[in-house]
Amino acid sequence: MMTLHELRAAFEAGEIDTVLVAAPDMQSRLMGKRFHAAHFLESGYQETHCCNYLLATDMEMMTVEGYASTSWEKGYGDYVMKPDLATLRRLPWLPGTALVLCDLLDHHTHEEVAVSPRAILKRQVARAREMGYVAKAATELEFFIFEQSYEALRDGGADLLTPISGYNEDYHLFQTSKEEPLMRALRNGLYGAGIPVENSKGEAEAGQAEINIRYDEMLSTADFHVITKQATKEIAHGLGKSVTFMAKYDHRRAGSSSHVHQSLWSLDGAPAFLDRGGEYGMSALMRQYMAGQLAHAGEITALLAPYVNSYKRFCVGMFAPTKAVWSLDNRTAGFRVCGDGTKAVRVECRIGGADLNPYLACAGLLAAGLAGIEGGMELEAEMRGDSYQNAQAREIPKTLRHAADLLEGSAMLRAAFGDDVVDHYTRAARWEIEEHDRVVTDWERRRLLERG
Ligand code: ADP
Repeated sequence: MMTLHELRAAFEAGEIDTVLVAAPDMQSRLMGKRFHAAHFLESGYQETHCCNYLLATDMEMMTVEGYASTSWEKGYGDYVMKPDLATLRRLPWLPGTALVLCDLLDHHTHEEVAVSPRAILKRQVARAREMGYVAKAATELEFFIFEQSYEALRDGGADLLTPISGYNEDYHLFQTSKEEPLMRALRNGLYGAGIPVENSKGEAEAGQAEINIRYDEMLSTADFHVITKQATKEIAHGLGKSVTFMAKYDHRRAGSSSHVHQSLWSLDGAPAFLDRGGEYGMSALMRQYMAGQLAHAGEITALLAPYVNSYKRFCVGMFAPTKAVWSLDNRTAGFRVCGDGTKAVRVECRIGGADLNPYLACAGLLAAGLAGIEGGMELEAEMRGDSYQNAQAREIPKTLRHAADLLEGSAMLRAAFGDDVVDHYTRAARWEIEEHDRVVTDWERRRLLERG
């Protein structure tokens, strides 16, 4: 991490010449500008501007109709990009480059834009703090590594995707040695950027990797997550390879998850989820928090699984959950208690895919947990055994269509986020569905062109 003073010194020493000024968008991509360090130090550190369509476009940068926040009718004005100088850091994998993350402010009032993912999470974190808790989380991140570059794949080469490994590489130290040009550079790059990387490992599919970052306060964790994704892509690209964080890039292979580990702490640093006398060392507070997440799991699923593709990951027998139930150390349940009986006791939500927006995912989970605490909710009994086969267990929505309806109808999220935010992200989900309904795919042509 760097202070502005340290950035100036690094610039004067010829170490840094470029500052990326970035804000996470709805898809959690880093969007922004590259500043010459001199100009950033002169004025850019105070604020810059971007078109306000950045919180209303889809993955293809389409100007999507139906958002109240911005439109052609409103003229697509500007947002203020306000650097959060506490996030200023070097990016060791890009020569001479630093990064700062920004909050997005209304151009006229200078208030935070309600539909900005960072603002949405900050609001829930502040709510937890008002209740006397610091919310902490870790978002594990899985992804696939391919031999080909993005450029090679773009020219119709997606069918040629070659995973970097020929076999399931779960915990494999030999196979992952072959991936060290990427993974070592990633671990060291993140470490140099002030991101507390714990480890990387091979995952349970050919070409699949996982990277773990140490848990931290939720806003920092979401910041770490988006920078880690960017770093993984940039370092892979530099090596002529590519990576994907799609939840399910191939229906014949496992999907990629982003499990979210969560815990609440008192303002003076005591683990509020721990009660050594309770079942598995869980405090009454933790039980209420989990009860809230179970009760509202359907409503927050669109925040954990934002695309049509995300739902193809929820299939039986591949470690991705299909049921919103809880269990101790059971990987078939949507929610798992980890670190039982220790100060690391926490709940891991296993519903989210690697395609989630970490700001929205953490905000949704926290809002549901806090609703459980406020309502003094009772935690149901633990689910034992294989939850895939349990017909009684609460289902995770099977489609984005269902999840979007539940999001739209969520009184809990409307109270926590505001109607404008819920309506905005419901529209984002519906747009994905509309596009999916409209576009003719390779699969349809293969199946129907001759024989249909
Ligand atoms: P696993 O064996 O499932 O990989 P780890 O011990 O590696 O479990 O932890 C997984 C993640 O949980 C790590 O990113 C770690 O930082 C995080 N974690 C550990 N303790 C807590 C906690 N109290 N609250 C939230 N996350 C935590």
